[in-house]
Amino acid sequence: AGAAPLLTVQGLEGWYGESHVLHGITFDVKPGEVVTLLGRNGAGKTTTLRAIIGILGKRKGSIRYDGTETIGMASRNIAKLGLGYVPEERGIFSSLSVYENLMLPPRVKPGGMTVDQIYTLFPNLKERSGSQGTKLSGGEQQMLAIGRILRTGAKLILLDEPTEGLAPVIVQQIGRTIARLKSEGYTIILVEQNFRFAQTVADRHFVVEQGRVIDMIPNAELDANIDKLHTYLGV
Ligand code: ATP
Repeated sequence: AGAAPLLTVQGLEGWYGESHVLHGITFDVKPGEVVTLLGRNGAGKTTTLRAIIGILGKRKGSIRYDGTETIGMASRNIAKLGLGYVPEERGIFSSLSVYENLMLPPRVKPGGMTVDQIYTLFPNLKERSGSQGTKLSGGEQQMLAIGRILRTGAKLILLDEPTEGLAPVIVQQIGRTIARLKSEGYTIILVEQNFRFAQTVADRHFVVEQGRVIDMIPNAELDANIDKLHTYLGV
């Protein structure tokens, strides 16, 4: 319980052009933790991830990673600290093979997984090593997108709705992957719509509403707070 946070986000505000979208996001993530950002469509979850990795045009507030203030830093330098982002749209290059996609991102930090280690984690990808990105199933694309980030050496992984549109059996596989990464010491921020899935992998849940974090629910207390959560999520 006493570990110092790996990431501390305080009073984060963010804009798309003139449009003020984040109004004071505050949360923290401890080393080795899996936390989720839950909330309705448009609440600001994706924008929060984009702000953390520095690809949101205008940001204010404080985002400290391992003691370093990153709010004024370029995304390239933020990545070098060991942060990796897997966007919802996955960003697979369809004309490149699985192997080429894995080799594409620069290694930002020593200690990233080798392609062999990634293939051990995702045996499907090994089988598909020579296949083009377009030939992959949604689940394989998600694994490729995660694998690519693991190769960079990132230790804090930001996953944006990794289970979206995937069949239940693949969702379970993604869940096992997240658990495995946690057991290997990775720290994960997960944006999810599916709180039942979130419950299977996360330590704590932060509820985002209209650009603010309005509540934190420890995973062990999720069931006891289910009515409150339904209200937050409008389900
Ligand atoms: P979703 O599940 O729909 O992605 P979210 O909680 O991740 O929900 P965001 O994508 O962060 O929400 O969006 C927050 C707000 O910012 C919304 O009002 C959205 O319309 C707006 N927004 C998102 N992307 C852009 C953009 N590129 N330009 C302008 N406004 C945007």
